[in-house]
Amino acid sequence: MIEIIDEKCIGCGACLRACAYDAITITDKLASINLDKCTLCGACVKSCPFDAIILRRKEVQSMDKSQYSGIWVYAEQRDGVIAPVVYELLGKGRDLASQMEAELTAVLFGSDIDSLPADLIAHGADKVIYVDDPALKHFQDERYAKAMSHLAQKYKPAVILAGATVMGRSFIPRVAVQIHTGLTADCTGLEYDPESGNLLQTRPAFGGNIMATIITPNHRPQMATVRHKVMNPLPRDDGRSGIVILEQVDFDFDSQMSMWLGFEKEKTALVNITEANIIVSGGRGLKEARNFTMIEELAESLDGAVGASRAAVDAEWMPYSHQVGQTGKTVKPNIYFSIGISGAIQHLAGMSSADYIISINKDPDAPIFKVADLGIVGDLFEVVPILIKRIKEIRA
Ligand SMILES: Cc1cc2nc3c(=O)[nH]c(=O)nc-3n(C[C@H](O)[C@H](O)[C@H](O)COP(=O)(O)OP(=O)(O)OC[C@H]3O[C@@H](n4cnc5c(N)ncnc54)[C@H](O)[C@@H]3O)c2cc1C
Repeated sequence: MIEIIDEKCIGCGACLRACAYDAITITDKLASINLDKCTLCGACVKSCPFDAIILRRKEVQSMDKSQYSGIWVYAEQRDGVIAPVVYELLGKGRDLASQMEAELTAVLFGSDIDSLPADLIAHGADKVIYVDDPALKHFQDERYAKAMSHLAQKYKPAVILAGATVMGRSFIPRVAVQIHTGLTADCTGLEYDPESGNLLQTRPAFGGNIMATIITPNHRPQMATVRHKVMNPLPRDDGRSGIVILEQVDFDFDSQMSMWLGFEKEKTALVNITEANIIVSGGRGLKEARNFTMIEELAESLDGAVGASRAAVDAEWMPYSHQVGQTGKTVKPNIYFSIGISGAIQHLAGMSSADYIISINKDPDAPIFKVADLGIVGDLFEVVPILIKRIKEIRA
């Protein structure tokens, strides 16, 4: 609960400036708080020179954290193929496991997946717990959440990590609610704090303008989804050995709120951007959808994939699966072309770790040039056709 003490408030406006949520107004030299907007972050309390704001938080009941140990990585698979982000999480998980002197476990769900645990052990897992059940053949978040919650309550891991993929983003929040713990979504960094025993979970906040480090001090497990391509996988080692446990979960099909009807693959001939070594991305500077054929042609001439800014996706010039950035995909190609893209912070959040960035923009002051290794100031409608012609000549 938060309240203003009228007798102390002089309406100086310090709290108004401190509030990032536009939740405070000053009328007749008195502050008032809009509780619909207020997130109880406490920034106004600290900013008030007159101690005129009081924030009362509920006493949080701490649980017995000593019962929880080990790091779990959700081993996402589709049609028997492990998602690449899983190997990255196992790489990071190994590092955390050695700092925490804990075991690293991969948790796998699906049907006919007996061959996958060995692969997870070769990539760093000490143990694999898996549920092999026809009910888990197709991803359904209610069932996957039930399976994960059941296992987490039984084994009590200290940490659960999952990829911030369509699947992970869909069912992992349900797990956090079911087992009553916190979840940090879309992390770009994870570290262990040996003093507190907490996992430091870092992610962009406030539209990517700051990096926030979040902890789960009172609850276990500590849950995080992590973006693809921000952690490094370990080299495969088939000499590693580990423990494999087959588990069973009872599903209550009568209480299901959703049904699996079918799976329709996106109809596109374009290469998946998260796996591509070269990405050619277009933005609003392309002016209209049909001009994206130029981007596709350049990508094709380089055996690359097509990316897009959110402006281009919002204009329906490209499907969402091609969006690069904070609310799209994080990519880490060898070469990233940004064409007609200004370089907003939210776009940079998804591509600035590319090895080599080539930008084409007619505005010499476009922010994209600050991260570009090679910048071409010019009209993309003149530059791109020349590039395509030259690349085709060289490759021929
Ligand atoms: C919460 C949030 C999340 C977001 N997530 C994302 C995200 O995931 N990804 C993302 O991309 N954006 C995201 N955005 C949007 C982002 O802030 C920008 O609005 C967006 O990236 C702009 O796209 P753009 O660069 O294509 O368009 P603009 O900013 O309009 O830039 C177009 C550029 O094209 C150049 N240009 C124009 N004509 C030509 C020409 N003929 N030749 C050469 N250059 C030309 C212009 O100089 C300009 O720099 C997000 C925003 C918010 C608030």
